[in-house]
Amino acid sequence: MNQEKSKIIKEYFPQARFSEPLSKHCTFRIGGPAEAFIEIDDLSEQNQENLVNLTKYLQKSKIPYIIIGGGSNVLFHDKGFKGTVIKITAKTLKFTKTNLEADAGAILQNILKEASKRGFYNLQPFIGIPGTLGGAIYGNAGANGLEIKDILKEAIIFNPRLSLIYKATPETLKFKYRHSNLKETKEIVLKATLNLSKAAKHKALAKKLSAKRTQTQPYGLSAGSFFKNPDPDPTKPKLKAGYLIDQCGLKGRQIGQAKISEKHANFIQNAGTLKNPATQKDVIRLADLAKKEVRRKFKIDLKEEVQIIPHKPKKSM
Ligand SMILES: Cc1cc2nc3c(=O)[nH]c(=O)nc-3n(C[C@H](O)[C@H](O)[C@H](O)COP(=O)(O)OP(=O)(O)OC[C@H]3O[C@@H](n4cnc5c(N)ncnc54)[C@H](O)[C@@H]3O)c2cc1C
Repeated sequence: MNQEKSKIIKEYFPQARFSEPLSKHCTFRIGGPAEAFIEIDDLSEQNQENLVNLTKYLQKSKIPYIIIGGGSNVLFHDKGFKGTVIKITAKTLKFTKTNLEADAGAILQNILKEASKRGFYNLQPFIGIPGTLGGAIYGNAGANGLEIKDILKEAIIFNPRLSLIYKATPETLKFKYRHSNLKETKEIVLKATLNLSKAAKHKALAKKLSAKRTQTQPYGLSAGSFFKNPDPDPTKPKLKAGYLIDQCGLKGRQIGQAKISEKHANFIQNAGTLKNPATQKDVIRLADLAKKEVRRKFKIDLKEEVQIIPHKPKKSM
């Protein structure tokens, strides 16, 4: 990125950094540098206006950009990102009697902690899901029978194409299993309001669910489940992606430093070291192998849950 462009980006967000290693900003610990990297830790009206103007500038200058939160569902490219990465870390929480208004950068597990301190336990099924509220809304994150869509009251969304900030309801976000229409519209979650309740039954559940996670999921560097579970065929038993990969005998299979977990076959791990990590290429080759074997054995096409970020996107993601 030339000096003039860097200078303009800094005019909107003086905290912008350049050549920032993306491996530091994702749970996979994979990825080269972002040309420009902006952390937004405050969603004041002024900063929202700066974000509107920054994205206008980036679009006009054809500089690709992406938004990230906790980086727990992304796989960056080994050469990094040729463009601007905007990381939303603003995390203000405001509790009312029955709701929580939170910034998109609020860490989901911190929300659970703060809500339960106040006696609200209905979010406890999410125990152990890393990342931010914004990322969870984008992918309709869920666990143990609860999805974000079930507790979302409304969200403040920024549409960069129209330079428009508006209030969206769960209906307008068109949630499905691990999907919202933000994946198509490329809009940005700024804030959200969640419905809270004092569902005490979940209080006792939390410990059990947390233990279940520790038992079934591996430690180490990953982005959680790599593939979505296939759409259930009503005429057949429900088959999970991990089961299908396991049945293909792929647990423990390694390409480069990328490895299919021995504990949970839907987890691809970066089994390397800081100096010699897995590469995006290793992970994709291993994922392609899993897809090929599952297709051959079960005639099922697995689809990635993890967002694979290219080095040079064709358009802003
Ligand atoms: C060990 C482990 C366990 C996991 N378990 C679960 C689980 O049980 N259930 C589950 O659903 N997921 C799980 N995940 C996946 C991941 O934690 C979730 O998808 C999470 O919601 C991602 O949030 P994030 O902030 O890290 O998003 P990121 O990884 O930063 O981003 C993911 C996607 O969301 C978009 N995005 C992020 N913030 C915003 C925003 N403010 N506005 C618009 N788009 C945005 C990004 O552009 C990107 O495409 C797990 C991951 C790990 C590592």
